[in-house]
Amino acid sequence: MTASVRAEVDLLIRAERAVLPGGVIRPAAIGVSGGRIRSVSALDDPAPARAILDARGLVVLPGLVDTHVHVNEPGRTEWEGFASATAAAAAGGVTTLVDMPLNSVPATTTRQALAAKQASAEGSLAVDVAFWGGVIPGNHDELAALWVFGVAGFKCFLAPSGVSEFPHVGEEDLERAMPALAPTELPLLVHAELPRELERAAAAVRGAAPRRYATWLDSRPESAEVEAIRLVAALAERMGSRIHIVHVAGAAAIAEIAAARARGISISAETCPHYLTFCAEEIPDGATPFKCAPPIRERRHREALWAALLAGTLDLVATDHSPCPPAMKRLDDGDFMAAWGGIASLQLGFPAVWTEARARGIELGRVADWMSAAPARLAGLDGCKGSIAPGQDADLVFFDPEAEWTVEGARLRHRHPVTPYEGRRLRGRVEQVLLRGAPAYRSGEWVEPPAGRMLKVRNDHL
Ligand SMILES: [Zn+2]
Repeated sequence: MTASVRAEVDLLIRAERAVLPGGVIRPAAIGVSGGRIRSVSALDDPAPARAILDARGLVVLPGLVDTHVHVNEPGRTEWEGFASATAAAAAGGVTTLVDMPLNSVPATTTRQALAAKQASAEGSLAVDVAFWGGVIPGNHDELAALWVFGVAGFKCFLAPSGVSEFPHVGEEDLERAMPALAPTELPLLVHAELPRELERAAAAVRGAAPRRYATWLDSRPESAEVEAIRLVAALAERMGSRIHIVHVAGAAAIAEIAAARARGISISAETCPHYLTFCAEEIPDGATPFKCAPPIRERRHREALWAALLAGTLDLVATDHSPCPPAMKRLDDGDFMAAWGGIASLQLGFPAVWTEARARGIELGRVADWMSAAPARLAGLDGCKGSIAPGQDADLVFFDPEAEWTVEGARLRHRHPVTPYEGRRLRGRVEQVLLRGAPAYRSGEWVEPPAGRMLKVRNDHL
């Protein structure tokens, strides 16, 4: 092999430790031109370059892809918005996020609503953003148009979503929607809790103290997850759909997913940093920043989620970043039953997961797979995102895996400071982020103007 014909690249990144495809960590010289990775070679055999950036002891990872983010703009921009969410994402090493179709107003359930969302995002993105469309009762005629205009897939709820403009679907609604989705080969993301089980549990806790965490936990039993996964898996089997279960929180749900996969159903699943970090035994009564649905369950569930990630039953980790104004968290009276259910963690997800992974002896390469390569595949973005390989966008994170720091909500770039991670010691700090080869974030500073783009995901199966 001769190196004599190799083209000069714009930028060469020298890293003693780079996370390469498959989670392999080794020294690499990463050549970047025109915003894309052009070469990955040994440090002593680099491409000729106009500029060199030395990672100086930091690990270089592919930019993270967070497929579960509620940005809430337009319509509820006081909860969170594109500018604040994407700035927080950059500081957390997330270079691509996929926005959920709810809690914005309008919800992304029609072509016009998608256009409104794209218009509101224009010019304010610090990182790249793609969009999920929504499936609600009666919008099956809109799904093809949403696909044509570039949504990465679709999201539905089997139980009330918490906002009135995004009603949940039942079996008959999915029987109408799934045939429209099948030709697109896009995934249907499912919030899997079943109303029947939730209503039964709610009746059983009626009158119980609303400040007690156990009251909230008992009102969202594991059986609601299991029954919902069973229902949607049976529908997917019959209709030939590809489904993805969001925010898996319990051990029995994992077993149900494994059983469905063993039957040949196209099913993938995620869990979230908070389910991998916290456990019910340690959540104080009245501590509503920990409220989310499904709830954070007991310690044994947390450990089952880790085991399922390692075994491949769970495919990926996404934050389910779902903030709200502090007043809606009911911090004054600690009422779990009345507080908004949602945890804001877009900026914290990666160090939170890495902290727990490291404590369990799990390598950084595995975490990168769960938070970059696998979510890029879910969203159909793996042609340009999720790995350090020639042809990929040069979205790169320079990470210090040993740095220790303490979370202060008020210093995060989330719109609101409320977080259950307040005061927690975390390992690992994002020092620098490149988006398509250009600086986007460095040590608490964001590059202006923001250079994030809206991504359209379109396959050619229709
Ligand atoms: Zn969500």
